[in-house]
Amino acid sequence: MTQSIMNRFRLDGRTALVTGGARGIGEATSAALAEAGARVILTDRDLDAATETATRISANGGTIIPAALEVTDSAAVNAAARDLVAAHGPVDILVNNAGIARSNIPAEKMSDDEWLSVLDINLNGLFWCCRAFGAPMLERGAGVIVNVGSMSAEIVNRPQEQAQYNASKAGVHQLTRSLAAEWAPRGVRVNAVAPTYIETAMNAYVYDDPELMRHWIGGTPMGRMGRPDEVAAVIVFLASEASSLMTGSIVLADGGYTCW
Ligand code: NDP
Repeated sequence: MTQSIMNRFRLDGRTALVTGGARGIGEATSAALAEAGARVILTDRDLDAATETATRISANGGTIIPAALEVTDSAAVNAAARDLVAAHGPVDILVNNAGIARSNIPAEKMSDDEWLSVLDINLNGLFWCCRAFGAPMLERGAGVIVNVGSMSAEIVNRPQEQAQYNASKAGVHQLTRSLAAEWAPRGVRVNAVAPTYIETAMNAYVYDDPELMRHWIGGTPMGRMGRPDEVAAVIVFLASEASSLMTGSIVLADGGYTCW
């Protein structure tokens, strides 16, 4: 007998791990996963920040365990996968959210370091986490990975130059499809959400810049940026059995930005 549709959105009894969970989309996602019933391991490169956020959002209920995880350090990621599973049991859901954006860097002037630092977190770090947490999922024949991509993988943002960010997120989308195809026969689903501009600390400066407002807000059919909780809602869907037929999907949550 099939489970009721609304029950399929619930995550009771699952353990979810979020990277970069101390603020922004990662914080909203950790809160949303907990609200859906999951036990959440909220990781960030800064353990104090992870602990402060975990304490604050678990005041609304749910179990949120803070942990340190620097995604660019593949040895540390492997060790965390081993130690966190030993301490808390298998990770059923991995949300690869940690990422940085660096803009207004014309490509011809971009230094090696400016290029590498973004690729290292957004693409390499995401892969280290998929590999380390995906391997035990494959052994168990079950697991879900949700990657945070970006509409910047599909379009070129205006007016700011950010070739390294756009390329890193295009890599995330194609990695998502590649892992999805490899791992689907072994019970692991891999999808991504591709948000528009979201109201986080990263983007607070837009409201003071008429040129950015014209391109970012004026270029969006819905005429606004997104909120972190609106991305979190898509992630909960992709993490849940409600999306059981989906793997390799890139779900745009962009207010229509890519329609124009
Ligand atoms: P924030 O900067 O608000 O939060 C990112 C979190 O990740 C911070 O806590 C940050 O720590 C942490 N982090 C950064 N680098 C690492 C690392 N190497 N290892 C572990 N944790 C790390 O970002 P957002 O919430 O805005 O973005 C989250 C994701 O969403 C990113 O992948 C981003 O590219 C993507 N995205 C964001 C959009 C937006 O408009 N905001 C649009 C589309 C996609 P610290 O504070 O120390 O830097």
